[in-house]
Amino acid sequence: MKKLTPKKNLSLSWKIGLYLSSFSIFLVIIVFLFQAFLLEPMYEASKKNTVETVSNMIVDKIYKSNDKQELADYINQMQESNETCIRVLKESSVYENTYEDTSVESDGGNLGCKLYHLSLNEIASQITKAELSDTRMYLSSQDTNLITPTSNEKLRNITLTRIIDTDQGKIAVMVYSNITPISSTKRILSSQLWYVLAIILLAVVVLTYLMYHTIARPLILINQSAKTLPSGKYVKVKIQNYREAQELDETLTNAAQDIQKADKAKRDLIANVSHDLRTPLTMITGYGEMMKDLPEEKTDENIQVIIDESKRLNALVNDLLDLSKLQEKKIHLSKERFDLTELIQSQLQKYDVYHLQEGYTIDVNLVKNTYIEADKGRIEQVFNNFMTNAIHYSGDQKHIVITQKVEDNNVIVSIQDFGDGIDDKDIEKIWDRYYKVDKEHARASSGSGIGLSIVKEILELHGAQYGVTSKLHEGSTFWFKFPMIK
Ligand code: ADP
Repeated sequence: MKKLTPKKNLSLSWKIGLYLSSFSIFLVIIVFLFQAFLLEPMYEASKKNTVETVSNMIVDKIYKSNDKQELADYINQMQESNETCIRVLKESSVYENTYEDTSVESDGGNLGCKLYHLSLNEIASQITKAELSDTRMYLSSQDTNLITPTSNEKLRNITLTRIIDTDQGKIAVMVYSNITPISSTKRILSSQLWYVLAIILLAVVVLTYLMYHTIARPLILINQSAKTLPSGKYVKVKIQNYREAQELDETLTNAAQDIQKADKAKRDLIANVSHDLRTPLTMITGYGEMMKDLPEEKTDENIQVIIDESKRLNALVNDLLDLSKLQEKKIHLSKERFDLTELIQSQLQKYDVYHLQEGYTIDVNLVKNTYIEADKGRIEQVFNNFMTNAIHYSGDQKHIVITQKVEDNNVIVSIQDFGDGIDDKDIEKIWDRYYKVDKEHARASSGSGIGLSIVKEILELHGAQYGVTSKLHEGSTFWFKFPMIK
């Protein structure tokens, strides 16, 4: 059969490199877009914010202090620290709606400040606009005729005019700031961006190499080691880099052990089944040939041997089929309500023959009316399996006790014998498929080694509890428990 080869994907190192470089390019593009489209509006917004904050602080000062000199000093300080120009004007007491300079009269005015070059008309126009506004503020932003010598661009400026009422009358606070053209800054930033991109891409190469070493290499080593996994071999890589790879290494180590165990179980099963099939087959063939060659051997006893061995073969094959169906959960339980006490009583008749012909003592302690909901046929199978085992392994004692108890609305059935018992080391394994404590003995007592695994599957399918207590040479008690219904 042609093997399907999976489509080759990119290796992890290429993928890491690709993702990291795409991410870096994405980042650089975002920075570029910010510079190209948002730098200017953000710069202007920050200037407006400065002008507003300065204006608020001046207004606060006016309200708090009446000292003219203190106000003038404060204004000078604010002008220098915020690169703004400030004028405070007081409404004229002679002519209404005309303002005169209050604060800077004392130091002769700031002649470097644009506000001192405005004509009275211009000042009056800004103040009027502020007066007319609801907030009593007016922000003007305009291009000037001045050109920057370096970038040959027009300078812009903003002026915030604000009117406040004080006990000395109306006062106008004007704060002015230049907005320097930033296209040359933008050009510098863009050229820097190319260098940044080159450095980032170099870092991506280094980072990819490092990540490849920490992430991909352990996986490559694990993969190499896992190539022998189908044969149950896996040499642990002993990863230290990161947890997921460690866990994968651990999982594969366990998987290799499981494969080995499953392989051994398969071999054992084949060996056991063929052994058990061969023995009756050899007897059937042997007896058949003997009867053919020696007509006087055609006795009823010899024919009975052939019949018995055929039955044994039949039972073994049936058990095997039954177990495999149960294990694959292909069996559908047909549950019904029935009296477990009645079921045990009816089954016990089968064992009268052991009592009468072979001297077995079977003590029975049953309680009445124990209704449960289960697959009646399957529970019969469970009970009979426990009973046949008890008979087979009860040794010379030939004493069996069947007890039924009701506890917390559960009915518990136990089948006790006083025979061989089971060693502690074997007790867990007896429920495994084909496990026999003593193969020779089991053969002598016709056991197939799968009875208890069938019982286990049936009880687990029902969700019922079950178990065994046993002591070597003292006997065993097998039990199962079902919830009772009305
Ligand atoms: P078998 O057909 O060999 O009895 P089972 O699956 O019924 O197979 O039991 C598995 C093994 O458990 C038996 O081979 C036997 O060694 C042990 N075993 C089962 N029942 C008893 C018992 N009542 N006393 C002692 N050993 C038992």
